[in-house]
Amino acid sequence: MSESLTFLAVHAHPDDEASSTGGSFPLLASQGVRTVLVTCTNGEHGDAAGGVKPDEAGHDPDEVAELRREELDRACEILHIDRLVRLGYRDSGMDGWPQNNHEQSFWQTPVAEAAEKLLVVLREERPQVIMTYNDFGFYGHPDHIQAHRITMAAVAQLDYEPTVYFNAIPKSVFRQWRQRRREAGEDVPDDDDTNNFGTEDDDIAAIIDVAATNGLKFDALAAHASQIGEGSFWMQMGREKYVATNVTEWFVRATNPLGLTGVVNDLFAGYR
Ligand SMILES: [Zn+2]
Repeated sequence: MSESLTFLAVHAHPDDEASSTGGSFPLLASQGVRTVLVTCTNGEHGDAAGGVKPDEAGHDPDEVAELRREELDRACEILHIDRLVRLGYRDSGMDGWPQNNHEQSFWQTPVAEAAEKLLVVLREERPQVIMTYNDFGFYGHPDHIQAHRITMAAVAQLDYEPTVYFNAIPKSVFRQWRQRRREAGEDVPDDDDTNNFGTEDDDIAAIIDVAATNGLKFDALAAHASQIGEGSFWMQMGREKYVATNVTEWFVRATNPLGLTGVVNDLFAGYR
């Protein structure tokens, strides 16, 4: 097909593009696909420099946003992202935090208003494939839920139907991770029933091999140093082990205009 291909991901905070699509972005770029990232919030309520938490003295939300702005720029270079659009909303904090109620927070922004801003970008880019989170925001964070809502609201107003994917981690993979931690001597409860952010394996629709690009994914995670510091799980693992073990990204198909069936191993399956 001669039509040019565009991938667009709608993420909640700086660093989400790296953790959930950090392999897929450079992989698609290497295949000649145009890549666009929309980041909804400035991430004001992440950690400040030095690991200072949002409820601790010395945490200045605006300084954090500025720091994360630079980190996101660097991550976009690493991941070969062609265009970054910041919607510029204020981070809403985790579920139940008082920041949820801040009048400029993403969570308090009417869905239609934010969807309208996203729609401008979608109309300019006309991506065939869009990635965001499921209606639980993958793990219940208000900004992730809101990213889902504005994406679906904007997509519904397009004059064509793109293929929409939600990021996912299969329940079987969570089980393996828990097992590995047990083998390493940790006391890990088998919380399969309460773990509501894993996806049933049968619902996974795209399994992407990112072995060729997961080194860049690690580097992009490392670029978000204020959030994913030296002491974090991934940085402790180290690049070599990370690259050897984190070789897959999984997605669920939310819309299916091409009538794809079964599991695909390319987010642009059917388009090329
Ligand atoms: Zn996030």
